[in-house]
Amino acid sequence: RHSDHPQHRIRVWDMELAQRRLRQITLEAYLYQRSTEAEFWLAYQPICHMDTGEIIGAEALIRWDSAHLGSISPSEFIPVAEMTGLVHRVSDWVLSHALEQLAIWQQMAPEFSLSINISPFELEDDDFIERMSRRVSEVGIKRKLVGLEITERGIYRDLDRYLQSLQALREMSLRLKVDDFGTGQSGLAQLLQFRFDDVKVDRYFIPTHADDLEKMAICQAVSTLSRGMQFGLVAEGIEQDSQRDLMLGMNYQYGQGYWFARPMTAAHMTSILQQQGRLPQ
Ligand code: C2E
Ligand code: MG
Ligand code: MG
Ligand code: MG
Repeated sequence: RHSDHPQHRIRVWDMELAQRRLRQITLEAYLYQRSTEAEFWLAYQPICHMDTGEIIGAEALIRWDSAHLGSISPSEFIPVAEMTGLVHRVSDWVLSHALEQLAIWQQMAPEFSLSINISPFELEDDDFIERMSRRVSEVGIKRKLVGLEITERGIYRDLDRYLQSLQALREMSLRLKVDDFGTGQSGLAQLLQFRFDDVKVDRYFIPTHADDLEKMAICQAVSTLSRGMQFGLVAEGIEQDSQRDLMLGMNYQYGQGYWFARPMTAAHMTSILQQQGRLPQ
C-alpha cells in the first residue's frame, strides 16, 4: 500500500474515492426513504447576551440517528442532500418542526427567537418561497423572531434569483442572517449587495489571545462595519473565557458556543426556559 510505484498510488487514491462515493450513495439511499424522517430530531443551542449570558434564543441544528448507520453529522449528510435535491425535503421537515417548537416556546418566553439554517440551494428553488410562506402561516409566531441562517459558502448559479428570494423572505418579515461569515469568497460583496439583519462570525476567526493579531483585526473590522451598516453581531464557537472577554471588548452583543451551552434537546431547553432562561451555573 505504501509502495511509491505510481500505479500503486493511483490505486490507493481510487479506493479512497470509491469508498467516499459508496458512503455518499448509502447516505443518499437512506435519505431518499421517507421513513428516515422518523430518525431526525432537532437539537437547540442557546444564543446568549455576551455580557450577561442571558438566553435570547436558540439555533435549531438537525440530528440524524440512523438505525442502520449510527449518528451522522449534518456536515456530512446536508451536502449529500444538497447534491441530490433531497435537501428540499429535509429542509421542509426542519422548518415545520422548528416553527412548531418556537410557537410553544414563545408562549413561555414571548421574546425568544429561533434561528433556522437554510441551505443556499433552497434560495434557488422554485417552490421554496411558497413552502416557507405556508409554514410560517401555519403556526402562531412572531415572524421577526424567526431568523434564517444562510451560509456564506453558497455557490450561486443564479445570483438574481438568489437575491429575489432573499427579498421575498424579508417581505415576510423574517430576519436574515449570514452564517459562517468569513469562510466564503463572497463575504463583503454579499453584505453590501443585500443588507442582512445579523452576521454570525465563524468560529475560525474568534481570537483566543489579544496577540492573535489577524483574528483581532478581522473581528474588529467586522464590528466597525456593523455599526456603520447596522447589522447585529453574533460570535460563533465561544469555548473559552478569553474568547468571550475579547469579543465582548470588541462590542459583539451576542455569542454562541460551548462556553455558554452545548446543543441540547427541546425538553432540556424547555426546562431552562421554565427557570426564566437562566443557564445552570
Ligand atoms: P452552523 O450553522 O455554523 O452551526 C454551528 C455548528 O457549530 C454546529 O455544528 C454546532 O454544534 C457547532 N458548535 C457550536 N458551538 C461550538 C463550539 O463552541 N465549538 C465547536 N467546535 N463547535 C460548536 P453541527 O450541529 O454539527 O452542524 C454543522 C453544520 O451543519 C451547521 O453549521 C450547518 O451548516 C449545518 N446544519 C445543521 N443543521 C442544519 C439544518 O437543519 N439545515 C441545514 N441546511 N443545515 C444544517
Ligand atoms: Mg447556523
Ligand atoms: Mg454557523
Ligand atoms: Mg458553521
